[in-house]
Amino acid sequence: MRLERSTIKQSRKKEEREREREREREREREEGGRTGARELSSMGERDDGDCNGNVGDGNDDGHTSLTRSGRARQLWHKVKNKYNLVEYHALPAYLRDNEYILRHYRADWPLKQTLYSIFTIHNETLNIWTHLAGFVLFLIITIYTFLHLPRVAELSHLYIPNVPDFHKLQSELISSLPSLPSLPHWHLPEAISNCLPGAVTIVNRTERCLLVGLRSMKEDAANLVAPFLPRPTTRWPFFIFLGGAMFCLLSSSTCHLLYCHSKRMAYIMLRVDYAGIASLIAASFYPPVYYSFMCSPLLRNLYLTAITTMGIATVLVSLFPVFETPQFRHVRAALFSGMGISGIAPILHKLILHGDEPAVLETTGYEVAMGVFYGLGALVYATRIPERWKPGKFDIAGHSHQLFHVLVVAGAYTHYQAGLVYLKWRDSKGCS
Ligand SMILES: [Zn+2]
Repeated sequence: MRLERSTIKQSRKKEEREREREREREREREEGGRTGARELSSMGERDDGDCNGNVGDGNDDGHTSLTRSGRARQLWHKVKNKYNLVEYHALPAYLRDNEYILRHYRADWPLKQTLYSIFTIHNETLNIWTHLAGFVLFLIITIYTFLHLPRVAELSHLYIPNVPDFHKLQSELISSLPSLPSLPHWHLPEAISNCLPGAVTIVNRTERCLLVGLRSMKEDAANLVAPFLPRPTTRWPFFIFLGGAMFCLLSSSTCHLLYCHSKRMAYIMLRVDYAGIASLIAASFYPPVYYSFMCSPLLRNLYLTAITTMGIATVLVSLFPVFETPQFRHVRAALFSGMGISGIAPILHKLILHGDEPAVLETTGYEVAMGVFYGLGALVYATRIPERWKPGKFDIAGHSHQLFHVLVVAGAYTHYQAGLVYLKWRDSKGCS
């Protein structure tokens, strides 16, 4: 009897232990399931992987693998999968912009990983590089233009030393007077002696007398050749455009690289991007307006003030948080396009004033081409073609934003060519 009671007691204890173990396993399973679900929602796709490799491996059989491999393996998966790319549906609200791009998003990455992602493949890689390459192109163009375009004619750069240096002065004079033939046997002291009044050609001439003589000769020579020298117009409006283009391209590239880091970073970067676009559009007005109305300062200042004010107003409007929401895509496109379209007014005005000049017609041809590039860019930006036709097919390459970037670079380059024609025209024509 006693033995029987002890056996029952033991079997109850055994059952109790068994139940306890069962409960333990249940708890573990529940915990594993929750972790798996969390990872699933943050990792996005699981079946076909992505360009960084291997989102899909791991916890498909979360319950059993957890009990099999234990916590160490679970931790390894967490670390390995931490900075993988995610799907659109797993994005935080601030990164949701284009529902036709389905995969390969970076989201909430630390700054270091975000910076390194310039060298990895995701759906922003080509957005970053199209404008970074454009920036490098315009940097080279700016340096080349700066070095090779002749500066504004300034005869005052002929420096007269306190102690005359005849050989240096001779070479400076000859280099300043390109229309004169080279005179290898021209000895400046003798020439001065022959040309100057008798008062300074006395045998005991002092340095001072000689200096006065040189000054006088320099002015005479400058006045003599001035009508025959081309008079380059000022270059600053051209460099304003190049500066605006470089700022736009670099800020856009930086924005695409960094804005996935955090909500705050996205807010700042998108404003920098909008400011860059407004700068490019406003700066693009400077060469055509300045050179077309160079001889009518009132019109020139009126147009330049109007476009600069519009650019600043656009940047201020873009500071409102609502401006970046997907619902405002058309408003954004309309505002920037409106700025660009307002350029039609000075172009028509230019044609009325100088329509008979071949150079002016040539610049108008470039401006029409530029309008086509920018117009197409705005169109694909607003309509999200082609990805809306085949969602998910253009995630990495070929989506509308990349096409928009390429068209912007093409438009800006066309405008650079137009700027060169304007400079050539005004250099040769002046205000006469
Ligand atoms: Zn962009």
